[in-house]
Amino acid sequence: MTTPPFAPVTDADLIVLRAQLGRPARGVVGIAARCVCGNPTVVATAPRLDDGTPFPTFYYLTHPAASAAMSRLEADHIMRELGEQLAADDQMQAAYRRAHEAYLADRASYGEVPEIDGVSAGGMPTRVKCLHALAAHALAAGPGVNPIGDAALARADWSPQRCACADPGPGGAAG
Ligand SMILES: [Zn+2]
Repeated sequence: MTTPPFAPVTDADLIVLRAQLGRPARGVVGIAARCVCGNPTVVATAPRLDDGTPFPTFYYLTHPAASAAMSRLEADHIMRELGEQLAADDQMQAAYRRAHEAYLADRASYGEVPEIDGVSAGGMPTRVKCLHALAAHALAAGPGVNPIGDAALARADWSPQRCACADPGPGGAAG
């Protein structure tokens, strides 16, 4: 796990990212989390791309097996379950709001972009809309920052501690 400021991205990382995404990664400012083997699992992207496009998703899950695992959880309606859990738990709501603020602060260290001011990712600060984005944040920030991302990772059949880089698993790189 790594939060800003990030070390410069290497050509080797960009090559792996391209293979993971099936296209060149745009606006990369750092690698926010890695597989135990060293491959990137989460990329950090500039809040404004080179062509001027605002890009709110600062932490993006690039790893095919991780992404497929989140897609399977979403297909199993885990988002609704976590959303209900959130709605019933004041402490979790407070933690989720703090996660939202932390996300925005991390992104702001790479520039303020008025078009996406106050907009984070994944449904934060009050909804659960994308486990890929929430898990990406949890992997970057480490345990205890994003409660929904942590819960999704805890239920996933993928872990950065067990390299699955050669085997994207059923579902491939969806997400
Ligand atoms: Zn690996």
